[in-house]
Amino acid sequence: MLNKIDLTGLSLEEMERFVADHGEPTYRGRQLFHWIYGRGVRTFAEMSDLPVTLRTRLAERATIGVLAPLGREVSGDGTRKYLFGCTDGRQIEAVLIPDEGRLTACLSTQVGCALACAFCLTGKMGFIRHLQAGEIVDQALALQRDLQPGERIGNLVLMGMGEPLHNYDATVKALSILAHPLGPAYPPRRITLSTVGLVPEIVRLGQSGLGVNLAVSLHAGTDELRDRLVPINRRYPLKELMAALRVYPLPPRRRITFEYVLIDGVNDRSEDARELARLLRGLRCKVNLLPLNETPAIPFRRPSQERVETFQRILKSAGILVTIRESRGLDISAACGLLATETNQKRLDSTGCLT
Ligand code: SAH
Repeated sequence: MLNKIDLTGLSLEEMERFVADHGEPTYRGRQLFHWIYGRGVRTFAEMSDLPVTLRTRLAERATIGVLAPLGREVSGDGTRKYLFGCTDGRQIEAVLIPDEGRLTACLSTQVGCALACAFCLTGKMGFIRHLQAGEIVDQALALQRDLQPGERIGNLVLMGMGEPLHNYDATVKALSILAHPLGPAYPPRRITLSTVGLVPEIVRLGQSGLGVNLAVSLHAGTDELRDRLVPINRRYPLKELMAALRVYPLPPRRRITFEYVLIDGVNDRSEDARELARLLRGLRCKVNLLPLNETPAIPFRRPSQERVETFQRILKSAGILVTIRESRGLDISAACGLLATETNQKRLDSTGCLT
């Protein structure tokens, strides 16, 4: 028996080649691409403008969809967390966050993460593997299938598990599919890639012409502090990171977002805010403050609301655009930095850390 190929994750050119290899004209590849990504179908039988014989042949040779839905939890605030099983049994999570009539879909790019940021639960898991482009795209397609009438996904953010730029090729391929006019057609300005600051890949992303938004997880305004919170800072210190960001080819009217997790007594002092303001001077940017989401496995606390507001005020008075990100889905561990799959979570709870 032939091994079936899964089509999820193939680019338009790859789908055209796939149909050509089966003796079909290339426009059939475009039709397939549109059915799978644009219409979100999961069976060839639904592809009503393909000849029945072709649908049957395709079903014998190919499949659609690489993720199995394993669970769905709904938070008191409406945030939904989805657990998916990959074909190798690994599990990943994605989140849908309601936001002013629209939904933001938060996708994962890796199982676990290699960057080991001090306050992040996914970081505690360690790196297990990269996701393939199809596994990234399929999260968005699965979330779309779960929309209620009247709901739609307005924004896509790569802020789930993993470091997207560590998995550069699959991430960029997935984003090109998600933004493709024949596919789900998310406009690049509605897509945000969040990175811990891998400098060579930031440069590459800028040159790729993809045009998605860039968010950088900064968390500190000095190397001394950032080295402790974000270990990769020792490899790509602030001077290099900021130099790359200052020449990053930003489309008109866009800004780089800096994420800053506020941790009680660690990086939330007024002096830290002033250092941050100095670092960002003259850059077209905005700062998104994230009061730490606490979890027993992480030895840090969230600052008081008053501290958060003081920090915000200092940045504002330095002329920096700054917002405070509300924690969403805390009651179901769907909030930033709390994604670690079910099985791993259990291992974390019993030992306090992953071995
Ligand atoms: N690796 C990428 C994508 C992950 S995005 C990155 O670092 O940007 C997840 C965001 O949540 C990052 O800004 C991360 O720093 C933040 N985060 C991690 N742990 C957190 C926690 N415990 N509380 C609040 N935010 C956290």
